[in-house]
Amino acid sequence: MPSNNPSNTDEHSSPKVGFISLGCPKALVDSERILTELRKDGYEVVPTYQDADVVVVNTCGFIDSAKKESLDTIGEALNENGKVIVTGCMGANAEDITNIHPNVLAVSGPHAYEQVVGAVHEYVPPSKEHDPFVDLIPPQGIKLTPRHYAYLKISEGCNHRCTFCIIPSMRGDLVSRPAGDVFAEAKGLVKSGVKELLVISQDTSAYGVDTKYKLEFHDGQPIRTKMLDLCKALGDLGVWVRLHYVYPYPHVDDIIPLMAEGKILPYLDIPFQHGSPKILKAMKRPGAIDNTLTRIKKWREICPELTIRSTFIVGFPGETEDDFQQLLDFIEEAQLDRVGAFTYSPVDGATANDLADHVPEDIKEQRLARFMEKQAKISEARLQLKIGKTLAIIIDEVDEEGAIGRSQADAPEIDGMVYLNDETHHQVGDIVLAKITHADEHDLWAESV
Ligand code: SF4
Repeated sequence: MPSNNPSNTDEHSSPKVGFISLGCPKALVDSERILTELRKDGYEVVPTYQDADVVVVNTCGFIDSAKKESLDTIGEALNENGKVIVTGCMGANAEDITNIHPNVLAVSGPHAYEQVVGAVHEYVPPSKEHDPFVDLIPPQGIKLTPRHYAYLKISEGCNHRCTFCIIPSMRGDLVSRPAGDVFAEAKGLVKSGVKELLVISQDTSAYGVDTKYKLEFHDGQPIRTKMLDLCKALGDLGVWVRLHYVYPYPHVDDIIPLMAEGKILPYLDIPFQHGSPKILKAMKRPGAIDNTLTRIKKWREICPELTIRSTFIVGFPGETEDDFQQLLDFIEEAQLDRVGAFTYSPVDGATANDLADHVPEDIKEQRLARFMEKQAKISEARLQLKIGKTLAIIIDEVDEEGAIGRSQADAPEIDGMVYLNDETHHQVGDIVLAKITHADEHDLWAESV
């Protein structure tokens, strides 16, 4: 947030809030909710420290580097503005923040919307002249993503206890949002112009387990709080629906036909994390890996267009060369389209820290390089197969050099781009058909038809 604008606050104007959102899409959705509440209460959101009457920092506490970024950001906001309210994952352990920054005004944990808004009210009271019926906010609320796509958060928390992860201790057990509410939000987003819904949670395939798949109603129509039922309903909205953070439970098989029918995008983001049953057991991962390769094969038979994205951890404690080789064999067999990988790094409070046989740093790095080299070849070969095909492309950006978009196989921020050089006539949010002319290991080039 820049600091060099002069203040323009006066006693008659709306109170002003600066907002910094760090972390993952789930935190981004929290930020959107907080901002929507603040706008409803008449606050103006400003882009500079100097213009703000108070600054809210939504923190990420997932790994040590994210914690450091959060603490540095809070420090900067304190220096530049002085009035700082902290929320988000790192706020789950308030003393981690107050020990270093004792002058923050208030600290709350993740999805503590009312607490954050309450703290803002306490330190910068809302304007008495504010009239929620006159001060319009968009009906879909405040979105931090571009208008043509939006994240749709379907649940909070997680019932698993993966040994490398501290999310359950920060965000609690799974709490699914009622399907009627989720569907109503999705409909509102589509009405406001959103063309792509990105379904997110900590564990999308567990949606509704906590409510025993409760039956809900929306506009008199029944809708069950269950992944398949929600996907069917979202699939009728006529926009792209993309699923993130899906674990390979058996019922995931049921949504593949919806992808084959074109109801939802043929795209699955499944964090497999490893290919060795021994390591997966040590990680306490949900879903069995044993028959995963057979299932992937079957999914592709039903839906040949299916794109699978995944993430992996290399160098988990106890990982031997043999385990690592099993991981390489797994990615060779699975032929995944998009892959992110990290070396294992201990996170404060994670039970994996207590496991024996931590892998030396240099071996972790060597294994990561070997892994990435292998996967780069696989990804490149899979992208080459697209040359000559005509694909639907959603346009994300247009400038004087042309348009940049994504195919159905590419999620925003994490996957590749499709470049439509010299095609300056498109509008952001258009979905156009284009013939793929060139591919490298990450991106595609195309000409619209
Ligand atoms: S499934 Fe595992 S990695 Fe994902 S949020 Fe839950 S505990 Fe963390």
